[in-house]
Amino acid sequence: MLQRWRAVSKLYLRRWGWQARHRWERTPIGIRFAFTLSLLLMGLLTTWLLMNLAYLNDALAHQARLNQMRLIKTTEIAIERELVNLLRHTEDYSVWNDAREAVLKRDLEWLRVNIVDWLAQHFYYDIVAVLLPEGKILISSRSENAWLLNLSLVQDALGGKGDSGLVRHEGTVYMMSAAPICDEEWQQPPAGVLVLAKSLKHAQLSQLSEQVGSRVVLTLSTQFQTPGSNTNEGDTGGVILRDPTGHPIALLTLESPHATTTLMQEWLSKAKRTLAVASVVIAILASLLMVGFLRAYIGRFLMAIHRLASGDWGARIPYAARDEFGFLARTFNQMAIQLQQAFEEQERQREEIQAQNEELQALYQQLRAAHQELAQLNAELVEANRALAQAALTDGLTGLKNHRAFHESLHNLVQMAERHRQPLSLVMLDIDHFKQFNDRFGHPAGDELLKQVAEVLRQSARAYDVVARYGGEEFALLLPNTTLEQAVQVAERIRAQISQIQNPHAPVSASLGVASYRMGTPPATLLYEADAALYRAKHNGRNQVCIYHPEAA
Ligand code: GH3
Ligand code: MG
Ligand code: MG
Repeated sequence: MLQRWRAVSKLYLRRWGWQARHRWERTPIGIRFAFTLSLLLMGLLTTWLLMNLAYLNDALAHQARLNQMRLIKTTEIAIERELVNLLRHTEDYSVWNDAREAVLKRDLEWLRVNIVDWLAQHFYYDIVAVLLPEGKILISSRSENAWLLNLSLVQDALGGKGDSGLVRHEGTVYMMSAAPICDEEWQQPPAGVLVLAKSLKHAQLSQLSEQVGSRVVLTLSTQFQTPGSNTNEGDTGGVILRDPTGHPIALLTLESPHATTTLMQEWLSKAKRTLAVASVVIAILASLLMVGFLRAYIGRFLMAIHRLASGDWGARIPYAARDEFGFLARTFNQMAIQLQQAFEEQERQREEIQAQNEELQALYQQLRAAHQELAQLNAELVEANRALAQAALTDGLTGLKNHRAFHESLHNLVQMAERHRQPLSLVMLDIDHFKQFNDRFGHPAGDELLKQVAEVLRQSARAYDVVARYGGEEFALLLPNTTLEQAVQVAERIRAQISQIQNPHAPVSASLGVASYRMGTPPATLLYEADAALYRAKHNGRNQVCIYHPEAA
């Protein structure tokens, strides 16, 4: 189970690592740089701050220790001062003639009113006692004060030497002073001893605290572990109070630095938090600043590239520093200069080519005009040729085929008849007495008649028949795919139509000879035979149709 979990977690870790690496590689270089820098800055800053805080901690602890010691000394001095004041006060009252007299007279009433009660009420002394030189208590503010007699302090006073010090009795610590009762001139032996004592209770401690420092709180403890004789009070956090014999009687605890320390500690933790936040904020700000810088530079580069891509060849990147960006900027600028030069060269070549093109265009236009002129001339020539050819094959007066064209057609149709084995007939026509007509009515009238006859022939002919003016007033009609009989019928119809021509001068008639092609004979034979038939028609009296008879020829 554990092994399986290990394997799975290993797999996930590897996958996570791969993904993180993949993302890292895909992150823009500026952000990667800023991130690394932030981490570095944060690390450095945190280390530096922690070191500073540790040093500050030490310094504070040291300071607190020093403060503690200073306070202990101050407390001791304050107690000393209190004891001195107490002794002075005791001595002030003990050196008094009236008091001495009262002691000697055992005037207890006077002593009670002027010494014991008066001091107790006005100065809040807990113990006010007058002792006799033989070691007896004459009068006391308290009933049970026999223990006073055993005190070294009191014994010293009874011996004639005033002194003050701390003493403990039944859990109460007193600041006590004892002084011999003397006359004001110090002439007489002491009459007794005046003992004044104030217990170190709350009010007294508060007064002491004020002397030491307003923030110090003193707590007295009589139940304490007595430390060794050479104990350093500073380590206990308090002052060990001793009686005049040097015996420890109480521990005065200082609680003064508590508030300050707490304040300091709070301040330190606050400072730690603030510094941590500040370091993060500084790192983020530094990253943002760096990213901003990078973006600004990259933006400048992109703008220049965009301008160059848009065709602004004057685009340059102003960057003076000799770093990687500077190298990039210089490379870009060199590239832009080369591109600009290349573009200008290209532009120059383009203009040259355009000029050449325009020249070529002009030439082309000229050539085209010449070509059109030539084409026009050619068309005219073709038309002229066609007209010429037409003219060469057409009879000018009647518009029919002329003699030459007739011969070409005869030749062709004979060949066709041979090839297809089809009949071919020829009708030859000659106007009767045309010479007379001409002579009588004039040549133009003869021409007009020729046109009329030609029109009759044209009307009679089928699409593929050939009508020609053979010469003078003689016409030929070639009829492909037409037998002799059919040709005779055609000829007869033509003859009849000619005889019906409405002529203003005289009636017209024509003689016609018909022949059919015989296979294997030359074209001239057909012509000859038709002509022979025509001759026979003339000979037989004109205005008739004759066919060729070989025996008649
Ligand atoms: P026949 O009945 O025997 O045919 O007598 P003919 O007078 O018609 O015959 P001939 O051959 O003697 O006369 C032909 C005349 O045709 C001669 C000529 O003046 C005339 N002629 C020929 N060509 C033309 C032409 O183009 N126009 C005119 N008006 N006359 C022409
Ligand atoms: Mg004739
Ligand atoms: Mg004639």
